[in-house]
Amino acid sequence: MSGQTVKIASRCECGSLAVRQVNQFVLDDELWWDSEFFCETCGTYLCEHAGPGSAPDDVRQALFAAHGSVRLRLTGPAPSLVPLLKVFREISAASLPQARDLAGELSRDGLVGTLSEMEFLKARLHRRGVRVDISR
Ligand SMILES: [Zn+2]
Repeated sequence: MSGQTVKIASRCECGSLAVRQVNQFVLDDELWWDSEFFCETCGTYLCEHAGPGSAPDDVRQALFAAHGSVRLRLTGPAPSLVPLLKVFREISAASLPQARDLAGELSRDGLVGTLSEMEFLKARLHRRGVRVDISR
């Protein structure tokens, strides 16, 4: 299992500078993210979020800033659109037009995301027989 962690400086209610630690990882065949907040000064500890689903933009931006992004590309011959559309619709609840856009991007330049996001997508695509690989 792989995952990525990033610590974000965050202001506590007590006025001190505290740390928000965010993790994104694949667990039980789902993409997860969690977020905890800890202030050393006043001892406040909060689990802000833990669960499956897409991470919000601020979390993704922090992960990109700390770890960079990766690209998922097709490695074999172009697959039929059907398995691609199925995967995109099941993982992101995308509408059909959105799923078509994602499938088109994957077929052209590849999809860019965090490592955990792309590993999750790669596993789902492999299961449908679509050959893809991740590059930096
Ligand atoms: Zn505090």
